[in-house]
Amino acid sequence: MSRLLIQADLTWLDGTFSPGVTVAVNVSGRVESVGSAQHSGSGAFRRLEGMALLPGFVNAHSHAFQRGLRGAVERFSREAGTFWSWRDSMYALASSLDRETLGQLCRRSFAEMRAAGITAVGEFHYLHHDGDHDWAFDEVVLEAAAEVGIRLVLLQVCYSTGGIDRLLEPGQRRFDTVDLPSYWRQWDRLSRQLDPRTQSLGVVAHSVRAARLNEIKALHAEAVRRRLPFHIHVEEQRKEIEEAVAAYGRTPMRVLCDELQSAEGITAVHCTHTSPEDMTVFLQGGGRVCVCPLTEANLGDGIPDLSAPHAAGDRLAIGTDANARISAIEEMRWLEYGQRLRAERRGALSDPRGGVAASLLEAATCGGAAALGIGSGRIEPGEWADFVAVKLNAVPLAGEPSEGLLEAITFGGGNEVVAGTFVGGKWRAAD
Ligand SMILES: [Zn+2]
Repeated sequence: MSRLLIQADLTWLDGTFSPGVTVAVNVSGRVESVGSAQHSGSGAFRRLEGMALLPGFVNAHSHAFQRGLRGAVERFSREAGTFWSWRDSMYALASSLDRETLGQLCRRSFAEMRAAGITAVGEFHYLHHDGDHDWAFDEVVLEAAAEVGIRLVLLQVCYSTGGIDRLLEPGQRRFDTVDLPSYWRQWDRLSRQLDPRTQSLGVVAHSVRAARLNEIKALHAEAVRRRLPFHIHVEEQRKEIEEAVAAYGRTPMRVLCDELQSAEGITAVHCTHTSPEDMTVFLQGGGRVCVCPLTEANLGDGIPDLSAPHAAGDRLAIGTDANARISAIEEMRWLEYGQRLRAERRGALSDPRGGVAASLLEAATCGGAAALGIGSGRIEPGEWADFVAVKLNAVPLAGEPSEGLLEAITFGGGNEVVAGTFVGGKWRAAD
C-alpha cells in the first residue's frame, strides 16, 4: 500500500465534527498526520464527497459462527425458550460445522460487520476442534478475517468444565482446551501465524462455570505478565451466580475481584445481573465491561445496572455477541435505551459535558479498542487508520446540521448510513 491522504466533508476530532481536515495514512496503515485542507506530499488522494469520517466501530465481543442460528431459533411452539434452550441449539450448530461451513459463517459475519462500520472485532473463540483436539477451527477464523480485511483480535478461549466441578458435556467436546500447557502451546503456535498488521491474540477464560478457578487465576497472571487483554463472560444468567455462590460462597464477579491480582486489563462481558456494589469494586479496580444489548435482549438475559460511578464512556465497550443482528449503531443506541428503560430517566450514560451520543461513541470506539489492546478508536497520529465513512445524504440524516449529526446517527441511524470502512487504510465499500 502507498501513502494515502483522505479528506471527508467532516471529520470527528476531539469530540466534534470539523470541516476541511486531511488525514494522512502511512504505508504501514497508521495515521501519520491530521491536518488542514491542503494536502501535501506524495501519495494517493481520496476525497470523500458528501461524507463524514469517524473512528471505526470496535466490536469487542463476537461469536461469528452463531450467525448460523439467525433464522433457526425464533420459533417457540411448545414452551417459552430460555438462554439454556437456545444454548442447546447453539451446541447442535457447533457440532454440525466443518471447516468449510464454519469459514463461510465467519466470512459472512465479518463482511456484515464491515458493512455496519465495524473495523475491528474481538472474536471470543471457543469452537476450537474439527476432529479430535486438532485445533483446526482456530486457523479458519484467522483466514476468514484476513479474507474480509477486518482487524481481528482472536480472543482464544480456555474451556475446560461443563459447570463448576462438572465434566464437559458431549456437546462441549469441540471446545475442550484440555489443560493449560495445551492451551498455551496452541496460543503460541497461533501467535506465529498472525498477520501483525491486522491480527493479534487475547487470553480468555470462558466463565467461572466453564473454567476452573485455578486455571482462571493462572491465565490471568500470564496475561498480565505478557501485557495481553483478558476477557471473561460474567453473570449473564442468574443460574451462574447461584452456582458460584453455592460453590465459592460468592458471586462470580466477587470471586474475580477477590482472587485475581487486579481488575486492570480485564474485560467482563455482559454483567447482566452484577450488583452495583460488585460493579463499583470492579470498575474502580480498573476493569472494563462489555455489554451486548441486542443479544442480551434476544436471549432474554436482562439489562445490566450501569449506574455505578465510572460506568460510562471508555470503561464500557459494545459487542454483537451472537450476531442475530449486526449493527454497531443499534448496539450503541440500545446501550443507552436499556439504561433509560431500567432507570426511567433519559441521558443515563451521558458524559461530563452532557453528551450521550459522544459517550456511546466513546464506548463503541476507544472503549472497545482499550478492551482489545489495539491502537485505534481515535483519529490521531500513530493510531491504526481504521475509520468509518458516513453518508451525509442518507435518509435518516437529511437536514441535520453538523452540531446534531452524531446524535442523528446514534438515535436515528442504522447500517444504511455507512458508506464504507478503512482498515489499516484499506477501503471497503459497505455495499
Ligand atoms: Zn459471549
